[in-house]
Amino acid sequence: MARFQCHECGFDGHAEWHGELVCPRCGCDHGVRAAIGIEEMTEAEADAIEALATELEGSEEWAMDEDGAANRRG
Ligand SMILES: [Zn+2]
Repeated sequence: MARFQCHECGFDGHAEWHGELVCPRCGCDHGVRAAIGIEEMTEAEADAIEALATELEGSEEWAMDEDGAANRRG
């Protein structure tokens, strides 16, 4: 399970993690954030998340307006 936050439809809740950063409600694949317990991940999944985070680094859509969210990543 992971917590998803979608900037498109406003979804904020838990859903099954399928290894992709896609909104469980609207299927949007941008402006979506997911928080996954690191202890729940396999090493391969953790690597995938890290790669995804690196890929999204610098994306303005990723830097959303939730206070402190952008600052905590770092
Ligand atoms: Zn959505």
